[in-house]
Amino acid sequence: MSDRTAEAPRARLPLVDPFHRAITYLRVSVTDRCDFRCVYCMAEDMTFLPKRDLLTLEELDRVCTVFIERGVRKLRITGGEPLVRRDIMTLFESLSRHLRSGALDELTVTTNGSQLARYAEDLVRHGVRRVNVSLDTLDPEKFRKITRWGDLAKVLKGIDAAQGAGLRVKINAVALKGTNEDEIETLMTWAHGRGMDLTLIEVMPLGEIETHRADQFLPLSAVRARLQERYTLEDLDERTGGPARYVRVMETGGKLGFITPLTHNFCESCNRVRLTCTGQLFMCLGQEDAADLRTPLRLSEGNERLEQAIEEAISRKPRGHDFVIDRRRNRPAVSRHMSVTGG
Ligand code: SAM
Ligand code: SF4
Repeated sequence: MSDRTAEAPRARLPLVDPFHRAITYLRVSVTDRCDFRCVYCMAEDMTFLPKRDLLTLEELDRVCTVFIERGVRKLRITGGEPLVRRDIMTLFESLSRHLRSGALDELTVTTNGSQLARYAEDLVRHGVRRVNVSLDTLDPEKFRKITRWGDLAKVLKGIDAAQGAGLRVKINAVALKGTNEDEIETLMTWAHGRGMDLTLIEVMPLGEIETHRADQFLPLSAVRARLQERYTLEDLDERTGGPARYVRVMETGGKLGFITPLTHNFCESCNRVRLTCTGQLFMCLGQEDAADLRTPLRLSEGNERLEQAIEEAISRKPRGHDFVIDRRRNRPAVSRHMSVTGG
């Protein structure tokens, strides 16, 4: 992919939705594939999309660039597992021009860590400063049970490599009833001891999986209450425009985040939209409505139709989601898996 440093983004009107929320954050899923099969995310036997349906790396760059021209300041590359997409570093390399021009504040990635040892230095070279690594347990057997196919040692090596290359690492852990519920404190002291923040995530009802969601669901209010018996948690005022709320753990000095889409409403400050690897734009993680950007993207080399489609999509961004995990209704609130929309 060529470096298009010379093409400075043109100033345009920022994207603002009907509820006056400026869209400044785009999450991009670059693949629906993954080398793991986490029990809360995928069924073991997943059918993946045919390659022709995926946006090419050049197309992904084009869409991201239009969003940046229209006011997006932060890009997160995700998946599926983004680092298993072939030649993915060329996308980071080409997007890094927007960091150099100052049009973009941050380029980040969410990864399962399996490929980090290989790519940490490249990521740094392409302007990435922080990565989120998903890790739900430090017990190798439990790790294998949760991810089905993952190898904990490889992920830990990846985290070492990331920190060694100078990346700031945040650990994301999904709180799972009866699985890692007794390990949250261990994860926290381990992460904080290595200078990494930890964010806990509640299981969201996305996509059909083998297990009943209510069997996995552990409300973070309970986790917090338990931690508070032993630790002093001081609320931080930080707002990211997303569902995370942060506390400082006074005893460790580290930051702990809680992502509670089911027990808290965070929608009023939502600043983000999500692009799937096939070019569907989801205005809300918890709703089915999406806009097709692949068709306008492929219709012409110019970006006019693409921009129109984006504007039209943003004008439909809903006020909020309506997730529920209901014992009587064992259906996902949203039929697509997290690996499709990108976490
Ligand atoms: N493969 C990468 C990873 O695992 O970090 C990126 C994609 S993954 C879909 C992004 C995040 O979504 C991960 O932290 C994962 O734990 C989380 N996730 C997946 N399915 C989820 C669900 N049903 N509820 C809550 N979080 C989920
Ligand atoms: Fe793969 Fe991430 Fe989903 Fe786990 S959570 S199966 S690593 S996409």
